[in-house]
Amino acid sequence: MKKKNLFGLTLEELETELSPLPKFRAKQIAAWIYQRGVTSFDEMNDLSKNLRGELAEKYFVQLPQLVKQLDSTDNLTTKFLLKFDDGATVETVLMRHDYGNSICISSQVGCAMGCKFCASTLKGLDRNLTAGEMLGEIIFVQNFLRVVNQKVDTLVIMGTGEPLVNFDNVIKMLRLLHKDYTLGLSYRKVTISTCGIVPAIRRLIDEQIPVTLSISLHAPTNKLRSEIMPINSAFNLKEVLKAGAEYAEVTGRRVTYEYILLGGVNDTEEHARQLAKILDGQLANVNLIPVNPVIERNFKPPTHNASQKFFHFLLTHGINVTIRKEMGADVNAACGQLRANS
Ligand code: SAH
Repeated sequence: MKKKNLFGLTLEELETELSPLPKFRAKQIAAWIYQRGVTSFDEMNDLSKNLRGELAEKYFVQLPQLVKQLDSTDNLTTKFLLKFDDGATVETVLMRHDYGNSICISSQVGCAMGCKFCASTLKGLDRNLTAGEMLGEIIFVQNFLRVVNQKVDTLVIMGTGEPLVNFDNVIKMLRLLHKDYTLGLSYRKVTISTCGIVPAIRRLIDEQIPVTLSISLHAPTNKLRSEIMPINSAFNLKEVLKAGAEYAEVTGRRVTYEYILLGGVNDTEEHARQLAKILDGQLANVNLIPVNPVIERNFKPPTHNASQKFFHFLLTHGINVTIRKEMGADVNAACGQLRANS
């Protein structure tokens, strides 16, 4: 009989799987796996030796395996290349901010969205990650941090992949991560980043989980946005902004609009003016991101002068705006670059 991986199961799924064992056994095992980072039944010392043996005959507990770890020279960013059972690899990034440890996870192996500036999508989409695999990225980093008495404080789903295309698995993972037998992570500490899959934004509203929504806008006109983001021909700016406004209205939470600054492409004062105009009256933050150049792509970062001018234009025109602090450029932290280069 093929052994089964227990990692990634909810408490209810564990109870069913382990039945007729009493339910409290499932609870004990969940705590070992998700809260104490234990993957060997032998170490689960509140289970009898017999039971540990029986479990080991039928099951195993497996997280993704570490293939490569890169630490930035300032030690604030650590990037992990992790491998799943089928050999698929994804990138997971730990960023040590002054407000805590933030982890950026991938939601798919590769990506089908085809954004012109992004390394994750160069080879298209291989497959979705399961809820257990995404949880595996998080528990892997949690176990890594436990050694130094730290934990994962915030989660961003902003690594490789389009999370709203893998909607059900992402929601299942978030609900699991929220449970007190895992990390008990508050939804308010979670950010989902999307290129703007409008019907899925509405589904997210219906889920009633107060996560922060981040929408990758990157251009203030349909013409330019369609040139750099093919998804814009399916869901255009107007529809995306409308869904963003609905999200803000129903949840009461500010939507973040990501705007990559691409030197000479979308970073002029005219672009800033158009952006301020389309965001006028929205409950929104704008996060400006100087592009991380990708070798296979032709985009240049903006000049310092251009990004400062863009920033100040928005600031003085009533927009809540920040410029992303560059982190981890020396560990290829831009989406998909480590995976693409390995
Ligand atoms: N598919 C989702 C989440 C993954 S991309 C989305 O589109 O939001 C996460 C963020 O990184 C997006 O804002 C994306 O546009 C941005 N990004 C992609 N390539 C980048 C690059 N080379 N430099 C800077 N940001 C990049």
